[in-house]
Amino acid sequence: MFDALADRLDSAWKKLRGQDKITQSNIQEALREVRRALLEADVNLQVVKDFITEVETKAQGAEVIAGVKPDQQFIKIVYEELVQVMGETNIPLAQVEQPPTIVLMAGLQGTGKTTATAKLALHLRKLERSCMMVATDVYRPAAIDQLVTLGKQIDVPVFEMGSDANPVEIARQGVERAKAEGVDTVIIDTAGRLQIDQDMMAELAQIKEVVQPHEVLLVVDAMTGQEAANLTRTFHDEIGITGAILTKLDGDSRGGAALSVRQISGQPIKFVGVGEKVEALQPFYPDRMASRILG
Ligand code: GDP
Repeated sequence: MFDALADRLDSAWKKLRGQDKITQSNIQEALREVRRALLEADVNLQVVKDFITEVETKAQGAEVIAGVKPDQQFIKIVYEELVQVMGETNIPLAQVEQPPTIVLMAGLQGTGKTTATAKLALHLRKLERSCMMVATDVYRPAAIDQLVTLGKQIDVPVFEMGSDANPVEIARQGVERAKAEGVDTVIIDTAGRLQIDQDMMAELAQIKEVVQPHEVLLVVDAMTGQEAANLTRTFHDEIGITGAILTKLDGDSRGGAALSVRQISGQPIKFVGVGEKVEALQPFYPDRMASRILG
C-alpha cells in the first residue's frame, strides 16, 4: 500500500533506518515528500501546511515499535492523520423523525449538481426512502428539463413551476407538496453560476431561510483542485453547509479536494460521484480516499 509515497520517500527513509526514534531532524526530508505528494494531489496549500504541522507533532518522539520499521511507522502516522482529518467514518445523509428530510444542493454550475440531485434521489430510493426533487434553477431552462428527464428515468417525481416563477417560492411550495404527499426526503436543486456571485449567494440564503433544510450539501468538482478550498470557505461562511458531495472522481484527480473541503468547513463529505450515469454515486469513505490521495 502507498507504493508511490513509499518510493518517493525512499531516500528520506535512509535517515530513519537504524534509528529507534522519529525525531524532528530525521523526518524533515520525509515531511517534505509528503508535502509534495499532497500538493500534487491538489490539496490546498494552507491545508497542506496545517496537516504537515500536525503530522510532525504526532511523529516526533513516537517510539519505534519493535518489529516495525520507522519508515512504515511514519507512513502509518501520515495515513491515520489523513483518515482522521477526513472524518474517520462515513457519515450518512440525515433522516429526520418527522419527514420530510429537506436537502438543499449548492454549488457552481457544471460541477454536477443536477446530476448529483438525481443520483442522491436514486440512492435514497434504493434505501426505500421516497423522494421528491425540486427544480429551482429558472435561469437555465434546460436545467429544469434535465431534472424532469432524470426524474422520469429514476421514477422520482419532480416539482417545478416553469422558468417564470421565483426560485424561493418554488422551493417553499415544493417542500409543502412533499409534506402533503408524505415524502421521506425532498431534494432541492438550485441555480449555479460559473463563478461565485452575490446574487447566487443571496438567493441560496433566502431559500435556506424559507425551507430550513436539514442538510445543505455543497457539490464540488474534484477536478477543481486548489480552488476547492476557496469555494468551500465562501459557501460555508455565507450559507453554512452540513456536508459535501465530491463529483467526477472517475477522472484522474487524486481527490485532494476532499481533504481541503473537510479541513476548511469541518463538515463531512458524504458521497462521491464516480461517473455520468445516475447510478454512479457512492458513500464517501475516508480510508479509501486517504489511500487514493497518498497514491
Ligand atoms: P450542474 O450545472 O452543476 O447542475 O451540472 P450537471 O449535473 O449538469 O453536470 C455537468 C456535467 O458533468 C454533465 O455532463 C454531467 O454528466 C457531468 N457529471 C456530473 N457528475 C459527474 C461525475 O461524477 N463524473 C463524470 N465523469 N461526469 C459527471
